[in-house]
Amino acid sequence: MAANILNLYLYTVTRIVETEHDYSVYAAVATQVAHCPTCGSTRLSGFGRREQMIRDLPSHGKRVAIYVDTRRFKCLECSTDRVATFSEPLPDVDAKRLMTARLVKWIGQQALRRTFASIAEEVGCVEGTVRLIFADYVNELEKTVRFETPTWMGIDEIHIIKPRCVISNIRSNTVVDLLPNRNKDTVVHYLSHLDGRHSVQTVAMDMWTPYRDAVQAVMPDARIVIDKFHVVRMANDAVERVRKSLRESLTPKQRRGLMHDRFVLLKRERDLNDKERLLLSGWTANYPELGEAYRLKEAFYGVYEGMGTRDQALARYAAWHRSVSHEVRDAFADLIRAFTNWQPQILAYFDHPVTNAYTESLNSLIRVMNRLGRGYSFEALRAKILFTEGVHKSVKFRPRFERRRGDEVMLDMATTETFAYRGFAVDQHDKPETDKNYGADISTLTRLIEEGKL
Ligand SMILES: [Zn+2]
Repeated sequence: MAANILNLYLYTVTRIVETEHDYSVYAAVATQVAHCPTCGSTRLSGFGRREQMIRDLPSHGKRVAIYVDTRRFKCLECSTDRVATFSEPLPDVDAKRLMTARLVKWIGQQALRRTFASIAEEVGCVEGTVRLIFADYVNELEKTVRFETPTWMGIDEIHIIKPRCVISNIRSNTVVDLLPNRNKDTVVHYLSHLDGRHSVQTVAMDMWTPYRDAVQAVMPDARIVIDKFHVVRMANDAVERVRKSLRESLTPKQRRGLMHDRFVLLKRERDLNDKERLLLSGWTANYPELGEAYRLKEAFYGVYEGMGTRDQALARYAAWHRSVSHEVRDAFADLIRAFTNWQPQILAYFDHPVTNAYTESLNSLIRVMNRLGRGYSFEALRAKILFTEGVHKSVKFRPRFERRRGDEVMLDMATTETFAYRGFAVDQHDKPETDKNYGADISTLTRLIEEGKL
């Protein structure tokens, strides 16, 4: 029992002391030291012992400390001119941290799922140690986990403690990176260090000038597209502006007549039920500006609904623009200004529409994001999103059909099935010749966050 409690066979356990919160395991290295690490000589003599405390994995809900009775040696060859002493090396131990290697690895993995404070308490170390181990762990992951560079890239805003930049793969509905802020320099730095950035054909983004400047500076050949979602949202904002300023001018009694006005006004006309239709026509009769804003919002959606060529879309927009009446022009000023400033990129959508599936899944992720975050730094949240096990959308290269044989092939099958069931249409035309990892699946991330599992 005593010999096996650590399950570290290079140590001999001599004694175990158990208290309410701790296991103290007294042990010695089982192997012999044969050579001097400096000169390789075998002429060594003992030079006493010292006890070193090594932290190990918590066990049965208790903290574990291994007290290693470390032997010290003197090399008789080296010591002719000076005294050369050394301690025996401790196998399976991270010397820098005085922790077992398996504990260091475990802390790194746990830190993707739990707060640093809770891990520090369970292990019996300080929170700063957990933070440093986690930083090393993430650095290691950055080196080993490589995401495919998207041919269709999304650059959007996501709120994680404050506004951040999220880089995604539109065709695979995955997140490939999170940047600490939305500055041009940050995005330029990211893009210019991106492997295969010349394979990025299209970049869809929200209307944030630093994003456009960064893409144009680093990838001048990539075409920039503004998703419909970001544009029509501004028409809704215009209706909201008219509605709010109207409400301010009303008496409490009149305001009661506008019950559920926001809900109804933001709905598309074709989705209104009879009751809502009746409400809307009543408000329109009483408050013509509100009716006018609603009409313009619906008409603006019409710019997108015809699709067709970009010229046809531009003609529809021009007609819409002419129809904006003086009374509500101020409310629609932001939309009109944005359309003017971003016209080539907005019209590019008509040649290269961003899929609704991508827009909807990213918006869902953005919505649930604020449930994540208490107790974590941005770096920790970024690593959780990018590197949590089971969130990656990946394709394994399989040269030919193989019979199931043991766990490895089972794993391979599972990956392939996931790939097929999700209707994952990414780059299937270019059959992967190596394993490919497309990033963290946005729908899976959203589900894990909603279930409180991330
Ligand atoms: Zn020596």
